[in-house]
Amino acid sequence: MTTVHSTDPTRTASPATADPVIELVQLARSFPGPPPVDALHPTDLTVRQGEYLAVTGPSGSGKSTLLNLLGLLDRPTSGIYRFCGTDLRELDEAGRTALRGRRIGFVFQSFHLVPHRTAVENVALAQLYVTGTRRERRGVAEAVLRRVGLAHRLDALPTTLSGGERQRVAVARALVNAPDLLLCDEPTGNLDSGTAGTVLDLIDDLHGDGVTVIVITHDPGVAARASRRVAILDGRISHRQDTAHGRDT
Ligand code: ADP
Ligand code: MG
Repeated sequence: MTTVHSTDPTRTASPATADPVIELVQLARSFPGPPPVDALHPTDLTVRQGEYLAVTGPSGSGKSTLLNLLGLLDRPTSGIYRFCGTDLRELDEAGRTALRGRRIGFVFQSFHLVPHRTAVENVALAQLYVTGTRRERRGVAEAVLRRVGLAHRLDALPTTLSGGERQRVAVARALVNAPDLLLCDEPTGNLDSGTAGTVLDLIDDLHGDGVTVIVITHDPGVAARASRRVAILDGRISHRQDTAHGRDT
């Protein structure tokens, strides 16, 4: 069976020297309007393997714009985005889609599970690039669900799961292709504070296992969990709280 997250030593390298997963060089996005909006002013940002970065900012500050760019759901107006060393300008749409599916796991505020499929089916459906029999695929999906503490809920439908369990299924789905980056958009936005804590504990654990995590949030309590924080306001990133080694300025 495929190991969900290996103990690859490069994954536990210290963040200061680990390879970059994300490198933004003067990356910018504006919308033509009218009126035109500079949703993201030219931004430099490096996120290395094994880092846990929170991006905070109020409504309208540019968080979704940044998330959409980082997740290859949108293209910049200008600047360079290198993902694990690949300059994304070199990829066509099919290449971008393949890279997104294989190497980025998404967790959204509202879970986005397929309602009439069980937990294990929801996870298995995301195994876009796993070959093998149905049984083998199910085995991998089960292993990831065990990893997020849902071994006892494999065959449950989303409607019978609590909010926290649904989000853990969504995290399992995000992890099933062993992505290079886990990109979370307000992962606790639809959860009460107790349940939110268990999902944040899980993200802490994954970070401890070497997974690279970016969480986008307006909630300072969520951001406090990360090992590195940047703020975004009016489309400009501020590194004032950024305490990571080798940070950009
Ligand atoms: P946040 O996610 O932090 O609430 P957004 O990234 O959604 O902020 O938006 C940042 C700014 O860009 C806002 O002024 C918003 O109105 C504007 N914006 C976002 N998407 C579009 C779009 N498709 N067309 C025009 N303006 C947009
Ligand atoms: Mg938003």
